[in-house]
Amino acid sequence: MKLAERMQRIGVESAFDVLVRARALEAQGKNVIHLEIGEPDFPTPQHIIDAAKQALDEGWTHYGPTQGLPDLRAAIAENVSSTRGIKVGPQHVSVVPGGKPIIFFPMLALLEPGDEVIYPNPGFPIYESMIRFLGATPVAMPLEEKRGFSFDLNLFRDRLSPRTKMVILNSPQNPTGGAIPRQDLAEIAAMLCDRDVVVLSDEIYSRIHYGSEPPASITQFPGMLEKTIILDGFSKTYAMTGWRMGYGVMPEWLVDAVNKLMVNSNSCTASFTQRAGIAALRGPQDCVDRMVAEFRRRRDAICAGLNEIPGFRCPLPGGAFYAFANITGTGMNSKELADYLLYEGGVSCLDGGCFGEYGKGYIRFSYANSLENLMDAVARIKKLAPKWEPVAAR
Ligand code: PLP
Repeated sequence: MKLAERMQRIGVESAFDVLVRARALEAQGKNVIHLEIGEPDFPTPQHIIDAAKQALDEGWTHYGPTQGLPDLRAAIAENVSSTRGIKVGPQHVSVVPGGKPIIFFPMLALLEPGDEVIYPNPGFPIYESMIRFLGATPVAMPLEEKRGFSFDLNLFRDRLSPRTKMVILNSPQNPTGGAIPRQDLAEIAAMLCDRDVVVLSDEIYSRIHYGSEPPASITQFPGMLEKTIILDGFSKTYAMTGWRMGYGVMPEWLVDAVNKLMVNSNSCTASFTQRAGIAALRGPQDCVDRMVAEFRRRRDAICAGLNEIPGFRCPLPGGAFYAFANITGTGMNSKELADYLLYEGGVSCLDGGCFGEYGKGYIRFSYANSLENLMDAVARIKKLAPKWEPVAAR
């Protein structure tokens, strides 16, 4: 029996593969510092856990509406309206199990062979994986270190074609931590507002930013709300990666399509976790502020440390919890170096090439780990630095 041909086109997320390799080393007794996986190391705030427990006791253990509980959709619509300064209602919200389904379902609903999708590269690997899986054509938009990992707008203009069906934006961004400046978004919006394209605006890191202003959303520009899907969720903001709860905010005709795909796959998102989601959005937000303040402390420390390592250059990211270091000065390629750091130094990190062609030459370090471990990782890398020499990939 053969798998369907399309399975040859689906990709994976390397962070999970590297985690398996790191765990195998640990099983052999090696001490490993985990800077590969992208999830907050903080516990889910207690009031959210309490709300889930209460929901279980109250019997929120059955199927719920496919689109999500009305109270949660209302809380999401209020939150998204106030954080972005836009006007959306519960009818625009789809609650799904994690942020990822808001990549999967809208793409499944929209893309056909021949359609082009402009996507950030380096970028979250699931974008390219899904574009290829659906037989559409990925059109990579290189992110440039010298622009704070934003786009060259002239290149963006050149990549637009009559076949462009979707544009994916991600700000703050994984893996670079870059954010798209408001002015760039204004220009992108001006290029797109008269075109028949859908924008997938992945804003899952919208609350984890280090500037004085929250990151801008493309939905704030004229004509864009009607053609944009906002992807956001609970995983990163409230340290709820394992709860599997995210949402999309989109025009109603797309909500309808996502509902159909949800009813064919998940039926609904778990009811008691949705009750906890209401507590997350309506409850105190100081837990988020504290987490972001701690991420900022770690960001400053790890970037300073990485910049002291010969051959490394690490710009200060504006958001998310990733440091994306340019390592071309080491003379090694990023895949070899990431392997070397894991096997020789016990520092598990990701080759920038896992995020696409334009990520080669960089290494992503997730600083969702204690300051002590981050400093230990920097010290371990420094110790290896005099030995930089190409090693065979394992
Ligand atoms: N989008 C980006 C850019 C991400 O980095 C991630 C997770 O790493 C997701 C979406 C998916 O989030 P979730 O774990 O809620 O599915």
